[in-house]
Parts: sequence; C-alpha cells; structure tokens
Amino acid sequence: MKENRENISWKEVYALNKRALCLWCRECPMLFVSSGLHAVISALIPYLTLYFSARLLDELAGMRRTEVLTQWVIILLASDAAAYLAKALMFRWKEALRATLYYRGEERLSRKMLDMDFASVDDVATHHLLSQIRQRERWSGWGADRIYRHFESMVEEMFRIFGAAALTVSLFRLPVRQEAGWLTLLNSPFCILVLLFLMFGIATLAPYLSTRGEMRVLGHDESMKFGNRIYFFLVSFFQDEKRALDMRTYRQDLFGIRRMEEILDPETGILHEMERDARGKMGGLFMLSAAVSRSFIWFVYLFVCLKAWGGAFGIGSVTQYVGAVMSFSKGLSGVLKVLGEMKVNSDTLKKFFAFLDIPNEMYQGSLTVEKRSDRKYEIEFRNVSFRYPHTENYVLKNVSLKFKVGERLAVVGQNGSGKTTFIKLLCRLYDVTEGEILLNGIDIRKYNYREYRNVFSVVFQDFQLLSVSLLENIAAGSGQEGMERNEGTKRNDGANGDACDREKALQCLRRAGLSEWLDRRPEGLDTILYQNLSEEGVQISGGEAQKIAIARSLYHDAPFMILDEPTAALDPVAEYEIYTRFNEIIGNRTAIYISHRLSSCRFCDEILVFHEGQIVQKGSHEELLADEGGKYSVLWNAQAQYYADGH
Ligand code: ADP
Repeated sequence: MKENRENISWKEVYALNKRALCLWCRECPMLFVSSGLHAVISALIPYLTLYFSARLLDELAGMRRTEVLTQWVIILLASDAAAYLAKALMFRWKEALRATLYYRGEERLSRKMLDMDFASVDDVATHHLLSQIRQRERWSGWGADRIYRHFESMVEEMFRIFGAAALTVSLFRLPVRQEAGWLTLLNSPFCILVLLFLMFGIATLAPYLSTRGEMRVLGHDESMKFGNRIYFFLVSFFQDEKRALDMRTYRQDLFGIRRMEEILDPETGILHEMERDARGKMGGLFMLSAAVSRSFIWFVYLFVCLKAWGGAFGIGSVTQYVGAVMSFSKGLSGVLKVLGEMKVNSDTLKKFFAFLDIPNEMYQGSLTVEKRSDRKYEIEFRNVSFRYPHTENYVLKNVSLKFKVGERLAVVGQNGSGKTTFIKLLCRLYDVTEGEILLNGIDIRKYNYREYRNVFSVVFQDFQLLSVSLLENIAAGSGQEGMERNEGTKRNDGANGDACDREKALQCLRRAGLSEWLDRRPEGLDTILYQNLSEEGVQISGGEAQKIAIARSLYHDAPFMILDEPTAALDPVAEYEIYTRFNEIIGNRTAIYISHRLSSCRFCDEILVFHEGQIVQKGSHEELLADEGGKYSVLWNAQAQYYADGH
C-alpha cells in the first residue's frame, strides 16, 4: 500500500481542528448551537429511560407499592416525551442549517480563487491542491465539512460518558454481601482498579484498531483519485453535447467504454489494490476492532451479574448498570474514534488551509490613476524581461517599446513567441521579472491595482460569456471597480440588468456588427444566452459570441482595447466586416491587436513582430514587407498562399 501522507503530531491536529472549528463557528454559529443541543439531548435520553425503568423494576421486584409505581411511570413518560420533543425540534433546526454547509464551503473556495493573484490561479500547483481537496471531499467526505460532524459526535460522546459515569458510580461503591463467599473479592479496591483498567483498555483498543483501518483506506486515495478522474472524465465525455459528433464519427465511445472497463476490472483495475487490502490487512483491522468491542459486552455482563449474585444490588439495577457501562464504553470508543478521525482528517485540513493561505504577493499600489477625458494614457515597456514563476527560461527578453496614444498596434508572431505573455504583463496579471512598465511615466506597480486594470478592455481568445441576459453579459461588473471613466453615462451597480445603460449596450452591439442579429431577437437585450440556467435561452454561434465579447469590451469603455485573435471564430465575411469597421469599433482608443494571421494586421498603424520572446521587427506592413529576409516577410510569404486574395 502506498502511504502518501506525513505523520501529523497531535499538537498540529489540535491546532488544525481548532482553526477549522473557529472558521465554521464564525460563519455559522447557530449550526453549532443547535447541533450541540441536539447532541446533548441525544446522549442523555437513554439514561432517563434506563434510570426510571430500573426504579420501576426494583419496586416491582420489591415492595410493589401502587402509588410509587404510578409516580415512576408518570415521571418516566413525561420526561421521555419532553426529551423527544426537544430532540425533534433541535434536529429540524440543525438540519435546516446543515443544508447550507455545502454551499458555504463551495463559496469559501470560490471566493479564495477569485481573490487570488492571477499568477496563483495560473499555477498548476494551485489546481493540484484544489483537486486534492475536492477529491478527498467527494470520495471519502474528509475536509472542512467534517468538522461539524466531529463537533456533534464529540459533544454527544462526552455527554454519554458523563451520564454513564453518574449512573455507574454506585456499581463499584455497593459491596457484595459478606456471606457471598469468594465473590467478596469483587469488593477489594485492587480488584476494582484491575477491572477499571481492563475496561479502559478494551474500550480504547477497538477504536484504535478501526482508526488504523481507516488510515489504510485513506492510503488508497491517490490511486482512487486517479481512477475517479479518468472515470468522471469518461462519463462527461459521453454526455458532452459538443463531443456528440466526434463520438459518432470516430466511434470514440468504444475507446471510452474500453477505458471504463479497464478501470472497473476486478483483477487489474484501479479498485483492485484496495479490494485486496479489504480482504487482507485492512479488513483484518476492522474485524479485530469489532471482536474486541464485542468482548467488552461479555465482560460487563459477567461483572454486573456476579455482583448482583453476591447481593450487592437488586434486579432493576442490573439493567441500569449494564446499560450505563455499555454506554460508557460506547462513549469512550466514540471519543477515541472521533479523535482518530480528526487525526486522519488533519491531512486534508492541512491542504485546505494551505489553499486558503495562498498569499497574495502582488504589490497593491495606492496611487490613483489620473482620469483623462482625452484618453492620453501613455504606456512604456522599459527593458522588460519575464519568466513564469517556478520556471527557468525567460519567455520575454529585454522588451522595450512605447505605445503611442490612439495608435492601432498589431502584435504578430508564431505560437509561443510571447504575444499573450506580453499582454498579461501589460494588464499586470503578472509583474515583470526585470525592467519596468510605466503608465504616464510612473511604474505601474505604484498604481491602485483595480484602477490600473480598468485602463484596459480585453477580448481574450478564450473569453467566456454567461448564461444570463445579453444586457447582463455586456454590462455586468462595469462601474463596480471604482474608476469613473465616462462622465454623463448612466452607471450600473453590478449585474443587475435594470441598472445598466441599455442605450449604450445597444450601441456597442451595433458597433460590434450585431445589428441584424439583434433585430431578429424579439427579446432584444433581454435575450438569455445559452440554456444552462433557462430553457428560454438561445444558442449562439462562435462568431456571434465573439462579437458579443467585443461589444462587452466596448461597453466597458477603457482607454486601451486589446483584442486577442478577435476574428478567430468568425467566417471570412464577418471577419472582413470587422476589419473594415475596425476604426469605427475602436474609436479614439489605443488598440492592440494580437494575431498570428498577418493579413489581418495590415490595417494597423504599427506592427510588432515577436520571435522567441523578443521584438525582432517593428514598422508598418509595407516597411516590414520591404525588409526581405526579415521574420515578417518570411511569415507573410508562408501565409500568403492561404490568403492570396489579400484579406
Ligand atoms: P503566444 O501568445 O505567442 O502563443 P505565449 O505568451 O502564450 O505565446 O507563450 C510564450 C511561452 O510561455 C510559451 O513557451 C509557453 O509555453 C510559455 N507559457 C505560457 N504560459 C505559461 C505559464 N502559465 N507557465 C509557464 N509557461 C508558460
């Protein structure tokens, strides 16, 4: 078995569980009040019945007085009814609150992901950590949510122990009668000590063994995680509508089914190792645990019956003592089991907190970005070099350039030449490794981060739209980030469609070339996109989606507009239409246009040619083409055969 977890000390177990408990208590205090009360009532209810039934039995076996019997019956029924009513009430209360746990947990992780530096979001280590946390949650229920169960069980077991201890004290105190012969041995303090020691020993051994078994179960989680990952990929693979065509054309379903059979194969599949362990050491540990806890029952019966035989107490008390000692053992085992589970869970909690504690290292400047109605924002790259975190190779090397206000700049180059990285640095998704980027002569790190980000509207190649109304797609989020860019324009206060500027949204859609499409939509701006959240939603083509994304960036009305392969999903007619109306679309903004298709950059004032992380050429299309043997003309000639018509 692969043991993939480090041994965590009890001190660390305490610290991790305490932190997780405090986190939950802060977020949902009433859940802990309701479940704590429920646990106390659940633990004590059996003792009410046990105590009053014992008194009833003693009276029946003894003096049989009617008024005393009636009194015990009334007390027994009344206390039982009151306790069960209170328990039912607490149960409903805590269950109503518990239903929100999952959502709260998910929200916590999502918020962290949203607040993180982009560099951390882009880091595979972050995703690996998150996938481990999710895997543990889904496969075995370990993780932060488990804290609530541990809390409830711990309170219940502790109160079970207190209740049992109160009812058991007299078992050891009441002596066997002197005439009982050898049974008087049971009165000796030494004998009582040995008995107590044995009882504790047995009560601790059973949970210890089952915790060892649980640890072995968890030891299989890496292979299970791998299996789950493939399995769920394959399941989504069969159900994904986008794959339906490929699936039928190339019979990818056969491949998928074969892989699934391999995973589930009892002889060689992913479950194989765990199944063998269940028949071997892991199963053995659980079996021993069950046997030990059963032997405890025999032992208790023997001790209590011998004392009753020796005349220490009456028949009614036998049921009370047997019940109470069994509960004591159950409580003790329960506490130890919870402690064991808390230890096992600590490994996942450690990962959970490692995720929540991922630091935001990006320097958050405080300088306000000057608001300029003339959009004169000058940006300069000065000797900028960059390598991604945890990597050795420089992706950008010594890049220097100055953007001219209002200019249309194209960035071209082969895949992997550093174009997108250049944009990521410009938008300060990453900070430069060497050199500096200046906005109006000041290092961009000194500006308030959110305000600086508002200088740019970007249409990324892999942009995402939401399954909400067209208006909300276009206007969501604008106006929230503080920078008042366009005085006189009605502000929106978030994703609320009513607060958005409908007229401005319509203008942006028309400028992006969606006039005809919009005219065909009776719902207009209220048309819902996609059908994930509403059956009334409309499906849109890749080209339409791209135009909507362009309209969204226009609505946000930033001084810089960046378009990353904006026409990649458009058909040639739509692409041509975008080019010819490019000036109208961009207006007086500074535009940066990234493409590996050179013909689509000709309308730009200046073209930067990237190669292996450096700007190797700069100039207009004609100038660059004139430089025969230059990277641009080589790329142009290579692509010209596909775009012989000059578009
Ligand atoms: P382009 O946009 O020109 O295709 P990119 O800027 O995307 O090029 O990539 C430049 C280089 O940086 C490539 O070698 C790519 O593998 C690498 N790269 C891109 N993103 C990351 C990342 N998050 N971590 C490490 N390397 C990356």
